[in-house]
Amino acid sequence: MTTVLPRTPASDDRPLDILVVGGGINGCGIARDAAGRGLDVMLVEMGDIAGATSQWSSKLIHGGLRYLEYYEFRLVRESLREREVLLRLAPHLIEPLQFVVPHAAHLRPRWMIRAGLFLYDALRGASALPRSRAVSLSGDGLGAALSARFTRGFCYYDAQADDARLTLANARGAADLGACIATRTRLVSARAEHGLWQVQLEDLLHGGVRRVAARAIVNAAGPWVGEVQGRIDGAHAGARIKHVKGSHIVVPRLHQGAYAYLLQNPDGRILFAIPWLDRYTLLGTTDVPVEDYAAPAIDAAEIDYLCARASEYFAVPVRKSDIVTTYAGVRPLYDDGAGEAAAVTRDYVLHVEDIGGAALLNVYGGKLTTYRKLSEQAMARLAGHFPAMGKSWTHAAPLPGGDFDGGRAEFAGELAGRFAWLPREHLDVLVRRHGTRAAQLLDGCGMPADLGEHFGAGFYARELEYMVANEWAVTADDLLMRRSKYGIILDAAQRERVTRHLEGMRS
Ligand SMILES: Cc1cc2nc3c(=O)[nH]c(=O)nc-3n(C[C@H](O)[C@H](O)[C@H](O)COP(=O)(O)OP(=O)(O)OC[C@H]3O[C@@H](n4cnc5c(N)ncnc54)[C@H](O)[C@@H]3O)c2cc1C
Repeated sequence: MTTVLPRTPASDDRPLDILVVGGGINGCGIARDAAGRGLDVMLVEMGDIAGATSQWSSKLIHGGLRYLEYYEFRLVRESLREREVLLRLAPHLIEPLQFVVPHAAHLRPRWMIRAGLFLYDALRGASALPRSRAVSLSGDGLGAALSARFTRGFCYYDAQADDARLTLANARGAADLGACIATRTRLVSARAEHGLWQVQLEDLLHGGVRRVAARAIVNAAGPWVGEVQGRIDGAHAGARIKHVKGSHIVVPRLHQGAYAYLLQNPDGRILFAIPWLDRYTLLGTTDVPVEDYAAPAIDAAEIDYLCARASEYFAVPVRKSDIVTTYAGVRPLYDDGAGEAAAVTRDYVLHVEDIGGAALLNVYGGKLTTYRKLSEQAMARLAGHFPAMGKSWTHAAPLPGGDFDGGRAEFAGELAGRFAWLPREHLDVLVRRHGTRAAQLLDGCGMPADLGEHFGAGFYARELEYMVANEWAVTADDLLMRRSKYGIILDAAQRERVTRHLEGMRS
């Protein structure tokens, strides 16, 4: 027998304005935007925040140079402009990154790359990032780790993000504005009655079913968008989704220097080699159409492909035995009918329908980079249902932790003065993860012992408990793979201590 639990967001019986389904980047972005316009919002996520596609990206906030070949000028322009906005709003989570494109004459002529980069620079509008340029790869410089046959190339700039924490920052921002964030909660069914959605939610952590009423549902379930539609009475598929798996391998750092490589492949695709977590290189990605999107994993052919393609460029070949870890995600792409998986648009489509006076908005496709703009447009599409809601606001409001008055380095310097006993390296990591909220996390600490148990590599009980209290962390995986990446850095015994500490907090 199931227990009926009370709704969490408010103690009264007022219906919600918006129920957002999906705690990926798009759902969290929409929840924050809506809450900031004064709407009563609840977000349900059946797993953890950023537990699906939004933690498995290439972690780039980018225009997408290769999309120019598919004439996606609108998308590239919007993405490049969003890159500038997001660099301003979340400087702790998003940083500029230089890309080097080795020239491979047999794949694309120099003039073509030069023209593409010229267009890329032109589409971005005002930017503090340097413009693209031709570079020499000979000698000890940008090509030092590459095979000697790559002597010339180009440089351009994009940005690198912590995708899971960017998603989390949006969830945190939504909650700070009054939204209820319910993780481990699944939308089971919804039916429109007298202009309101009557929704059944399943609490996957404690068991039981919770009922809420809402004026609008936003279906931001990413790869599950069609499945969630199937749970909503009367919903029509506004578009189709193509599920395309993309996988990455992580290997020990292939090159020194704080820049990434964009490597062209004979199949027309490109591969990124991106410095990651100081000690690794992230190599990806692939484009494999899949039917099963629930638990994606890299396959042997993708591993061979990534190793072989990277080995064509690097002086020292990349071998399977070098791989530290791998990950795979499924892109929920809007199906525009393109034959090749790599050619399917990365643009997004919003579809709104009115079912018995209740609104349903479905999100198809999109990129990490465009989530803020997508959220703004989602709210514009729902404006008719909420005539009194506030105006667009997210373009000027830093994400939680991003409100540095004088820049990240200055803030870290001030904090280093206040917490002089804390190794500077550890403090910088905290500021990169939590931004200005690192001060809140450390508040009241006066000596190393105040940080509690040390699990390894600078991860202390103090931060773990902060993540549980403020960031909806429930399991060790939430802490080690999304709130941080200690899951890759710590050994098995250290990870086990994290699990035991969590269990101790519960008992
Ligand atoms: C390999 C790869 C590389 C990428 N690289 C980049 C990149 O570098 N830059 C970039 O801009 N974009 C990139 N992307 C695209 C980007 O990651 C995705 O577009 C984005 O993360 C999708 O977010 P989402 O919120 O739509 O979906 P998701 O993150 O998948 O979120 C949907 C959520 O809905 C939840 N859900 C589903 N059903 C229910 C239900 N019934 N009840 C409650 N919750 C439910 C799921 O648990 C899930 O967490 C990449 C994608 C992949 C796969």
